[in-house]
Amino acid sequence: MNRILLVEDHERLARLTCSGLQAAGIAADVVQRGDAAWAAIQEVPYGALVLDRGLPDGDGIALLQRLRARGFGVPCLVLTARDALHDRVEGLESGADDYLAKPFAMDEMVARVRALLRRPVACRPLEPAHGDLRLKPAEATVCCGAERVSLAPSEMQILLLLVQGGGETVRRAALELAAWGLGGAVTPNALDVALHRLRRKLLAIGSRQRVVNLRGLGYALRPVGVAE
Ligand code: CA
Repeated sequence: MNRILLVEDHERLARLTCSGLQAAGIAADVVQRGDAAWAAIQEVPYGALVLDRGLPDGDGIALLQRLRARGFGVPCLVLTARDALHDRVEGLESGADDYLAKPFAMDEMVARVRALLRRPVACRPLEPAHGDLRLKPAEATVCCGAERVSLAPSEMQILLLLVQGGGETVRRAALELAAWGLGGAVTPNALDVALHRLRRKLLAIGSRQRVVNLRGLGYALRPVGVAE
C-alpha cells in the first residue's frame, strides 16, 4: 500500500514532508499525537510509518513499542532531533526499521520511505498475542496453550485486528475492510458468518477469550466473565 502515516507535531515540518512525499507519489496521512496515530493504525493498513520521537503525548518510541507488542509489523522510520548514538541504538532496538535525524533533506526522506514501502512485511515473523491467544499468521493458525486450530484467511484477518486491538473495540467496517479489502464482495452478513465460525474455533481450543458484540460500537475480545 503506497500510503503512509506521518506522526509529527511540528505543523510546518509535517506539511513540507507531506508535500515532498506526495510529489514522489506517496500519499501521507498526518496526525500530531501518539493517541491519534494509535487509532489511525487500527483502521488503515498503512504501508509505512514515519514517527517523530518528541510527541505532545509522549515518546514516539514508546508508541512503537506498544505497536510491536500488539503485533503491528508496519515498517517504521523514526525521526529525531537527537542525533546521539544512544538514541539511534534505542530506536532500532525498539522495533524501528530505519532512523533519520532532523533536519533532513527531503530527497533522503523520500528515499528512506520508498525503501520501507518496498520491504515485504512478511520478513517479520510476528506472532501477535492477547490473553491466552497467540496468532501464527505464517501457519494460518491460532493457538491457546498446546491447542491450535487453523483459520481461513478472512478469519485470520479479523482475529488479527481484534488481537491488535487488545480488548479495545474495533468497528465493524474496519473488520470487513481487513477481511475482504476494499473491492471484496462482502454480503451483508459475511462478517457475522465469519465471526460465528471464529467463536466456535476459539471455544474448540479452550480459549477464555470471547468475541463480544458491543452494540452500535463494534466488536472486541473479552475474557469470559467480564461484562460487556
Ligand atoms: Ca516533535
